[in-house]
Amino acid sequence: NTETVAHILGKLDVLPMYKQRDKFSHKGTFGHGLIIGGSYGKIGAVQLASRAVLAAGAGLVTAYVPTCGYVPLQSAFPEAMVITDADDKHISAINFEITPTVIGLGVGIGTDKKTGDALEAFLKTNTTPLVLDADGLNIISKNKNLLVHLPADTILTPHPKELERLIGVWEDDFDKLEKTKAFAEKYKILVLIKGANSIAVYQNKLYINSTGNPGLATGGTGDVLTGVITGLLAQGYSALEATCFGMYLHGKSADLAVETKGYQSLIASDVITYLADAYLDLF
Ligand code: AMP
Ligand code: MG
Repeated sequence: NTETVAHILGKLDVLPMYKQRDKFSHKGTFGHGLIIGGSYGKIGAVQLASRAVLAAGAGLVTAYVPTCGYVPLQSAFPEAMVITDADDKHISAINFEITPTVIGLGVGIGTDKKTGDALEAFLKTNTTPLVLDADGLNIISKNKNLLVHLPADTILTPHPKELERLIGVWEDDFDKLEKTKAFAEKYKILVLIKGANSIAVYQNKLYINSTGNPGLATGGTGDVLTGVITGLLAQGYSALEATCFGMYLHGKSADLAVETKGYQSLIASDVITYLADAYLDLF
C-alpha cells in the first residue's frame, strides 16, 4: 500500500518548469502540434484548441478536420495549417503525411460511427505522444479495448462526466481518486480531472491546481486547455510538466482575464488572449 502524495501547484512549483527561449531558436525548435477533431457545427472547438497550441508557444500547428472545417479555419486563423478528411461533416479516416511532435485528439469530434472506427484504426498504429479530450474520450469509453493502445504517458483530460464514462461511478471524492489512480496506473497514463480545482493523477501522485475561477464555466474552455497542454508537449515539456504547467497557466489566464472581463462575460477565446499575461505574471 503506497501512500499517495498530493502536491498543490502554485507559481513557485511551476516556475522551475519554465523553458527559456534561446536567441538562435527557430519555429522548428518549438515543435509541431496536430489537433485532430471537429465535426459539422463544432469546428470552433478545433479553432480554439489550435490557437491555444500556438499561444502556449509551439512553433507550428496543423488542424485535421472534416472538409467543412477548411474554409472557417483558413479564413479565421491564418497561422494554422489545415488537413481535411475526405468526409464533409465527420472525421472518417485519420491519414496525414506530416510528422507532428504531439497530437491533441477529440475536441468537437462527435461520436459518429465512422469517427469511432477511424479512431480505432488510428489508435492501433499511432505512436506519437497524445492528449485525449472530449468526444475522443467518450469514443474510448465505448470501446475500452483501445486503452491498451495509448502510448505511455498519454494525457487524458476528462471533466467529471467524461471521467465517469471511463472509470465508472464513484461513491465519494476519495473513491473517485482511488479509482482514477488505479486506472492511470493500469494504462500508464496521466489523467487530469477537470473541475474547480483540477487534479492531475500520475504514478500514484496527485497534483492539485491552485488557479482558475467560475468564469471558466463556459463552453470551449476545455478545448483551450487541450491546446495549451498540446502546445507545451510540442515544446519538449514532459507529460507531467505539460499537464501541471498547462492547467496552472490556463487557470491563471482566466484569473487575470476576469479582472477586466468579469465572471459572466469571460469566454473561452479570452483564455487564449490572456495566456500572454499568465506567462508574464510568472516573473
Ligand atoms: P470543459 O468542461 O471540457 O469545457 O472544461 C472546462 C474547463 O474549465 C476545465 O479546465 C475546468 O477545470 C475549468 N472550470 C470549469 N468550471 C470551473 C470553476 N468553477 N472553477 C475553476 N475552473 C473551472
Ligand atoms: Mg470539454
